[in-house]
Amino acid sequence: MDDKQLFQATLGLKAPWFVSDVKLNKVEKILDIFIDFERGARFPCPECQSPCEVHDTNQRTWRHLNFFEYETFLHARVPRASCPEHGVRQVELPWARPNSGFTLHIEAMVLALSDEMSVAGIAGHLNVNEDSIWRILQYYVNEARKNVDLSRVDQLAIDEFAVQKGHRYVTFFYDLRGRRVIHIAEGKGKESFTSFVQATEGRLDPSKIKLVCLDMQPSFIGGCRETFPAAVMVFDHFHVIKLLNDTINRIRLEEARENGELKETKFLWLKNPENLTEKQERNFQRVKDLDIKTAKAYQFKLAIQRTWELPPQAARRYLQKWIAWAERCNLPEMAKLAKSVRNHLDGIVESVRQRITSGYAEGLNNKIRTAFRRAYGFKAKEYRDTMIYLVAGGLSLPTQC
Ligand SMILES: [Zn+2]
Repeated sequence: MDDKQLFQATLGLKAPWFVSDVKLNKVEKILDIFIDFERGARFPCPECQSPCEVHDTNQRTWRHLNFFEYETFLHARVPRASCPEHGVRQVELPWARPNSGFTLHIEAMVLALSDEMSVAGIAGHLNVNEDSIWRILQYYVNEARKNVDLSRVDQLAIDEFAVQKGHRYVTFFYDLRGRRVIHIAEGKGKESFTSFVQATEGRLDPSKIKLVCLDMQPSFIGGCRETFPAAVMVFDHFHVIKLLNDTINRIRLEEARENGELKETKFLWLKNPENLTEKQERNFQRVKDLDIKTAKAYQFKLAIQRTWELPPQAARRYLQKWIAWAERCNLPEMAKLAKSVRNHLDGIVESVRQRITSGYAEGLNNKIRTAFRRAYGFKAKEYRDTMIYLVAGGLSLPTQC
């Protein structure tokens, strides 16, 4: 077997395609493989598959997998077929998809690497610019998303996420059973529900959604009621604690203006005590028992968490006591929250009955943090979404060629 036959076999080329030349540049560490087609060959029209004569050709180059330390490029003249019915069309190539400057092999490699590596890491590894890697990922992620089966989705979790330091929001639609992100909508509130259903292009039946986990904002509740009329609305542990944390933080910010000890203590109050590091624990001991509003508000959070350890009926009674306690306290922010808890009591108790744990939310948040890390330095929001779907979308991608 000579070198041409060897590369022809590893590329999987079949007639009329063949390797016409191979050049190894030892100085620049580049391998060039030249591909051609047999004289007089006919190619199927991409539309109707009938064999057509070649109209003209266009010289092109593709980046291929490295051959040892040699950066490898394929070169070929790409024919356009002249179909009597469909006119002049570019033929399909066995080694690359239309308009890509990369072979299918290297694209499969990029997808496989993206499972573990950042985009910058892959780009560095292959000596390709980052935008090219993003475009490959975006193409395959979009294709895979079109084929995601949503017919059995009947439970959703919906959550907003602040981007650009809280100036903008995105809303995640999460398949609770499948544990995957199925849609990312710009903004928050009602419109994001509409854009979600539109984006599924009929693959999701809104009337089949039986349960939705969400937070207690009126815009979410309104959107949910309109879009998923058959769904039970559930205000789960994660979303209730998020509200408590927001309230505690507002109280702390207000109080920190007069009390210097509260500066830089934000995360001490947001984390559960068992998740604090040793150093945080020491700092927390310093502030947690002070006679301050923040410490008092924190006690309300610890107390409400017990709700999810109780059976549903006991949880309801316990929450009613918690509400009465919170409404009587002299923290107006907490009293306001208590009113909200009272108004949404059924949905909270439902989360106890349905045994919705915060596990899904923690899993989702971890995945999104991973996505943001891997997408570090990304420029466009499309790329951000691409990475989130890649990490958290449960997609099946062609990582083998
Ligand atoms: Zn045709």
